[in-house]
Amino acid sequence: MARYTGAVCRLCRREGQKLFLKGTKCFTEKCPVERRAYGPGQHGPASARRRKASEYAHQLREKQKVKRIYGITERPFRNLFEKAARQPGITGENLLVGLESRLDNIVYRMGFGSSRKEARQLVRHRHIEVNGGTVDVPSYQVHPGDEVRLRAKSKDLLPVQVALESKTRPSKVGWLAVDEGSRTGRMVERPSRADIPLAVQEQLIVELYSK
Ligand code: SF4
Repeated sequence: MARYTGAVCRLCRREGQKLFLKGTKCFTEKCPVERRAYGPGQHGPASARRRKASEYAHQLREKQKVKRIYGITERPFRNLFEKAARQPGITGENLLVGLESRLDNIVYRMGFGSSRKEARQLVRHRHIEVNGGTVDVPSYQVHPGDEVRLRAKSKDLLPVQVALESKTRPSKVGWLAVDEGSRTGRMVERPSRADIPLAVQEQLIVELYSK
């Protein structure tokens, strides 16, 4: 499985905004986005002075930003988009709901991991059960009624405790019910766009892929 292994702060700097890819560390370390408000690399400072970005550039950057927030590469992202386009309703919203329903994102939103990257590691390392069975596929789609929990032997892992006690954990969402004591959560219903706390313009991604 392909994945980005470089410095994640470069990704935030490339998008020109904080994407909070390092979880709690984003609040305790000096954030490079604040210290160097231009793109990464040799030509970063020059890119800040460039002329106005084209419509295509806006669409591309929005897609890259969403991919980076959820930590997925082009192929699975494109697959999710095509699935969203086949579903009834608004494609951009379907795409975000598909991204939010990924198991790694659900574990993150439940507060068991301090970042999506950490949540994905919990899944990959077989610490997570869905409806009583171990699932180690981060892209697994969780459905309403599904129960997600940490395995009995993984409940007291230090990163889980740190994540749950963190003051900077993601705000709770109404479509997930979480019992922190038993390290168990359930998807109550599929989220709508209004339930997804994410400041992105998903319509730009639809326009980009529709060219
Ligand atoms: Fe992004 Fe966090 Fe790094 Fe800041 S500290 S650039 S928000 S990953």
